[in-house]
Amino acid sequence: MRSWLLVLFLSLPLAAPAQAADWTTPAEAAGFRTTPSYADTLAYLKRLEAAAPGKIRLQTFGVSPQGRPMTAVIANANGVFTPEGARAAKLPVVLVQAGIHPGEIEGKDAGLMLLRDFAVTGKIPHLLDHVVLVFIPVFSVDGHENSSPYNRINQNGPDSMGFRGQSQYLNLNRDYIKADSPEMHAWLTLWRHWRPDFLTDIHTTDGADYQYDLTWYLEDPNKLDAAASDWQQKTMAAVIPLYEKRGHLASIYLEFKDGKDPSQGIVNFGSGPRFSTGYAALQNRPALLIETHMLKPYAVRVRAAYDLVALMLEHIGRDPATLLAATAQADADTAKRAQDASARVALTFKSDPASTPYALKGYAFRQSHSDISASNWIQYDPGKPVTTEIPNWNRLVPDVSTTPPAAYVIPAQWTNIIARLRDHGIAYRRLDCAVTVDAEGYQLSDPKWAAQPFEGHLMLQSVAANLVTRHETLPAGSVIVPLDQPAANVAIELLEPDAPDSLLRWGMLDAIFEIKEYGEPRVLEKLARDMLAKDPALRAEFERKLKSDAGFAASSRARLNFFFQRSPWYSVQRAGAYPVLRLDARMRDTLVAAGKPCPIPEIDSAYRDPR
Ligand SMILES: [Zn+2]
Repeated sequence: MRSWLLVLFLSLPLAAPAQAADWTTPAEAAGFRTTPSYADTLAYLKRLEAAAPGKIRLQTFGVSPQGRPMTAVIANANGVFTPEGARAAKLPVVLVQAGIHPGEIEGKDAGLMLLRDFAVTGKIPHLLDHVVLVFIPVFSVDGHENSSPYNRINQNGPDSMGFRGQSQYLNLNRDYIKADSPEMHAWLTLWRHWRPDFLTDIHTTDGADYQYDLTWYLEDPNKLDAAASDWQQKTMAAVIPLYEKRGHLASIYLEFKDGKDPSQGIVNFGSGPRFSTGYAALQNRPALLIETHMLKPYAVRVRAAYDLVALMLEHIGRDPATLLAATAQADADTAKRAQDASARVALTFKSDPASTPYALKGYAFRQSHSDISASNWIQYDPGKPVTTEIPNWNRLVPDVSTTPPAAYVIPAQWTNIIARLRDHGIAYRRLDCAVTVDAEGYQLSDPKWAAQPFEGHLMLQSVAANLVTRHETLPAGSVIVPLDQPAANVAIELLEPDAPDSLLRWGMLDAIFEIKEYGEPRVLEKLARDMLAKDPALRAEFERKLKSDAGFAASSRARLNFFFQRSPWYSVQRAGAYPVLRLDARMRDTLVAAGKPCPIPEIDSAYRDPR
C-alpha cells in the first residue's frame, strides 16, 4: 500500500519551477528571417487570449474563399470588447489592419509583439486603457498562405511571403467600394459593426531607395471632412517627432513623378475610394497608410511598424475625446450638408499646380543608358546618404464636382445597386407602393470601355452624362436614399456617373447600354422609305451625312441604323437611361410624406449589423 502511494506521489507532476512563460513571437524566434504561417499566427494569438482573457478577445468576422477563418483581435485594458461598450465608456475604436497585401506583412509580426507587450509582459500595460483596438493580423488570409520566396521581387525578406492577390486574384486594396470579394464583404460587416474612429493600414512600399525606414500617407484635406482631416494632420505632426526620437527616419509617402529620376519631385499617388484610406475618407474617418521601406531588413521594418502604431495608440489614449469629437463632427457635417442645396462635392481631384520644396533624405545615384531597356537605368548608392531639395506636388485640388441631390431613388428592380447600399451601411427607405414621379435623371451616351480588364472588370472609361427630366413609375420596393446621413459621400460615389469608383464606371450597369431588339434590314429598308417620305428635314440630314462621313456612307448597317435610331422602335428601348434618379428636397419630402395612402416604413438599413 505504502509503496503504491509512493508511486502515485512520484507520478504527480512536480510544481513547475518559477520560470516565466516564453512569449517570444515566431518572427522574433526566427531572428526575423521568417514570418509565421496563419495557423501559427492564430496559435500565438490564442495563447495570448488564454493568458489575458480580460484584455484580449479573438473574433471571427468572416470566412475566406478557401474556407479559412478571418480573425480580428479585440484588445482593451478593461475588457471592453463590443462597440456598444466602447460607446458607453466613450472610448474610440481604432482599427489596425495588416496583410491586406500579405507579402507586406510587418504589421502582423509587429501586432503580435505589441499585443504581447500590452497584455502579458507588462511592458506597455496602459497602452489600451482608453482605446479599444480592433486588430486584423492578416486581412488577405488566402493570399498569406499562398507563400513563396518569389512573391515580392523588390523586397528584402522575409524568406517566404504571401501573394498580393487573394485566391480569386483580386487585390483587396482596390476592392473597398466595389466589394467583389468575400473578404471585403466580411470587412464591411466589421466596419458597420464597429464604426471605427480611426483606421491604420500597414504595407511595404516598392519604388525608389532612400534613407527612410517608413513613409506614411494621409488623404488630402480636400478629400474628407475638415474635422477628421484636421485631427489626422495634427496627430501626425505630434507623433512623427516622437517616432523619430525612437531612432526612425520617416517621410510622407514618396511617389516620384519620374521613377528613374527622384530630382523631378514627388506627386500624390491618387488613392481614391477603392483604397483603404480613400474609403475611410468617404466614411468621414481619419486613416493612416503606413509603408515600411522594402529594402530595409525585416527586423527594422517590423520595429518601424511597431513603434508608429504604439505611438499612435498612446497619442489617442492620452486624448480620446478629441478623436471622438472629430469623428462625431465629421458625421454631423456630412449629414448637415444636405440642407445646402448649392453645396458642391468633388468627384475627382488633380495636382495643385503650385509645388512646395521638400528636403529628400535620399541616396546618391547615377543614371546610365541601358542597352537592354534602351532607357535610363538608375542605380542607388546606399553608402552615400544625401539630402536634396525637390519639388513636392502632393497637394490636390478638386476637379470634376457635382451638386448632390436631396435624395437618390433606385427603382426596386436594381437589386445589385440596393445590395451595395446595404453593404456600405447607407440608410434608405423603401416605397411600399408604386409612385409616379417627374425627376432628374441622366441620359448617358458615347460609352467607351477599357480594352484590358482591371480587377476583373472592363471599366467604363468615359461616358457623356446629361441631366434630363424623366417621367417614371417607381415600383413598390423602390429605394429612397436621403443624403442627410453620415454615409452620404459613399452614396454619391456609388451613384454619380462621373465618380471614378461608381458602380457605372466599374461596369456593373453595362446592360443599360445594350439594345435588345434589332431591326431586320428588309424591315428597316421599308421604315427608311416611309420616314424619308414624311420628313424632308430628315432627308436633308441623311444626305449631308452621306457626303460628310465616308465610313457612314460605306456601311449599309450604319445607313439603316440612322433611321432605326430615330424611330420609336429604338427610343422605347431607352438605351443609356441611367436608372438612378435624383430628387430635390421638395420631391424627397413629397415621397417621404406619401405616407398616408402609401406608408413608408422605417429606415431599412441604418447601420444595422446583418448578423
Ligand atoms: Zn501594399
